[in-house]
Amino acid sequence: MSVQIYLLARPALDLEEVALFLRHQKTNWRRSPESSEPEEIVEFAGRICYLSFGDRQSPRENDEYIRNLVTMEHESVLEHVSWTFLLTGVSRAFTHQLVRHRVGFAFSQLSQQYRDQAEAEFVQPPELARFPAALEAWQRGVAAATEAYRTISKVLHQIEKDPGQEIQKSELRRSIRSAARSVLPNATETKIVVTANARALRHFLRVRGSIPGDLEMRQVAAALLQSLHREAPALFFDFHIEKLADGTPIVVQHVVQDGLKVASA
Ligand SMILES: Cc1cc2nc3c(=O)[nH]c(=O)nc-3n(C[C@H](O)[C@H](O)[C@H](O)COP(=O)(O)OP(=O)(O)OC[C@H]3O[C@@H](n4cnc5c(N)ncnc54)[C@H](O)[C@@H]3O)c2cc1C
Repeated sequence: MSVQIYLLARPALDLEEVALFLRHQKTNWRRSPESSEPEEIVEFAGRICYLSFGDRQSPRENDEYIRNLVTMEHESVLEHVSWTFLLTGVSRAFTHQLVRHRVGFAFSQLSQQYRDQAEAEFVQPPELARFPAALEAWQRGVAAATEAYRTISKVLHQIEKDPGQEIQKSELRRSIRSAARSVLPNATETKIVVTANARALRHFLRVRGSIPGDLEMRQVAAALLQSLHREAPALFFDFHIEKLADGTPIVVQHVVQDGLKVASA
């Protein structure tokens, strides 16, 4: 089971509304022909701050304009564009770390209380592949957890037959699954919908994408960045996917300082 990323939703710019605004202001906006809608939304929002349209517009193209916003740390403008991803084949250990990101993120995750986990799958840490003894121990561990889950679930279902049972059936199921899931490991596969704006995604990539000892996190960060590079390269211009010696991906930010590129974690 490996990570799969689906891009469910992306920002859209309503050009008719933009044209209406420009008409009302008796001005115009020279757009960069190669830019994507999210990139244009960010540029437009930035231009609103200075009303830099018409003859107040500099010759900068969209990518330079956005690079300048980022360099100046005028990054709230990046919050106007969000993407919605569905991640599957990720572990609960990974999502526990992911949902710690509070600002500019929204999450909807598969519930272990509403969904029975007797057939749950598990995300195998890639590091195990080269070490059969470790892999075998891991496989035994998840098999035992599955077995324990099924037994706990089966035994507790007897509560349903208790005379005088007052709790609603759906709540009973929730309580049985809550007890049973307590034995499931961090490796349990989960699915999560993640919506995040460009600023929050940049922060996430910066702090999470380059941790050598966290391969699953690096893999997800690299897959997200690949998608974001297709969607809005100008907004993620300074992030790059490189490879460690073992061929696994790492996200590196190249901060531009006084014209020099400096790799940063
Ligand atoms: C290498 C590493 C090791 C970690 N180890 C642990 C660990 O051992 N235990 C653990 O519990 N967590 C750990 N974390 C999680 C970490 O502490 C953060 O909770 C997580 O990375 C989310 O980052 P964030 O708070 O910057 O993001 P967000 O919650 O998205 O916040 C984004 C930014 O908004 C600002 N902000 C958000 N909330 C506040 C606030 N209340 N007050 C002031 N500013 C705010 C900050 O500038 C913050 O960087 C680790 C993270 C990393 C990257």
